[in-house]
Amino acid sequence: MEYRELYEWGVCRLREAGIEEASLDARLLLEEVCGTDRNYLLVHGEETVSGEKKDSYADMISRRGLHIPLQQIVGYQEFMGLKFAVTPDVLIPRQDTEILVEEAMRFLHDGMRILDMCTGSGCILLSLLKYSNDCVGTGCDISEKALQTARQNAASLNIEASFVQGDLFENIHDRYDFIVSNPPYIPTDVIPGLMEEVKDHEPVEALDGGEDGLAFYRRILDCAGEYLYPGGMLFFEIGCEQAGDVVRLMEKAGFEEVTVCRDFAGLDRVVYARRCG
Ligand code: GLN
Repeated sequence: MEYRELYEWGVCRLREAGIEEASLDARLLLEEVCGTDRNYLLVHGEETVSGEKKDSYADMISRRGLHIPLQQIVGYQEFMGLKFAVTPDVLIPRQDTEILVEEAMRFLHDGMRILDMCTGSGCILLSLLKYSNDCVGTGCDISEKALQTARQNAASLNIEASFVQGDLFENIHDRYDFIVSNPPYIPTDVIPGLMEEVKDHEPVEALDGGEDGLAFYRRILDCAGEYLYPGGMLFFEIGCEQAGDVVRLMEKAGFEEVTVCRDFAGLDRVVYARRCG
């Protein structure tokens, strides 16, 4: 079968399955199978694809048709220009989360100590470590399976970091200059209405922020101050409607210089503040 025919077949199958970005996903999966890039479809569309590649493509298309996220099918997602392994045990790194990394980078100095609470794939921590010098990083997560993926990411990106399993701070005994966190923040009763890709295939523990979505911000803020050096900073990713609540919680916990940042869609996405010195 020709490359272009195969692509068109993939688009049709994904459309029938109700996949929103059918043509994009069909192309990306074909590129993944064939090791080609975006131009290949335009320039070499008539080339023949081997039977073996065709079979793997058909397999990927049928999995995508079941609404399995593309990143779980190909096994990775790029984040901050780095390639992170993705499994069903971790939240897929989102572009919005790059805002948190970029904001934290503005304040990060060489040699600082960073704690990433609810590290998941490790994407936040490992990006900060990759783009700084001599920083010491710890990633914490309640899920041992998520930590396995985070450790695998540290190894493949050649970054030194330590990982601690635990329910928030239960196994954390050090102090840090920075605490960064993208905790689960979706209100429990919103989850059933999310896209199938998210609600059925991403780990619910990484999504569910309790009744009002704020449970983890409250719990983290209950003790974050004790784990930060005076003058240390706390960075949270937030849901776009949570800025007001999270700002209030941070102020109530005694944090200063509380600042809200927006993402590229103009939505509130990050709140950060400083532990009073
Ligand atoms: N820190 C990870 C991320 O931002 C995982 C977050 C989570 O599991 N809620 O992708």
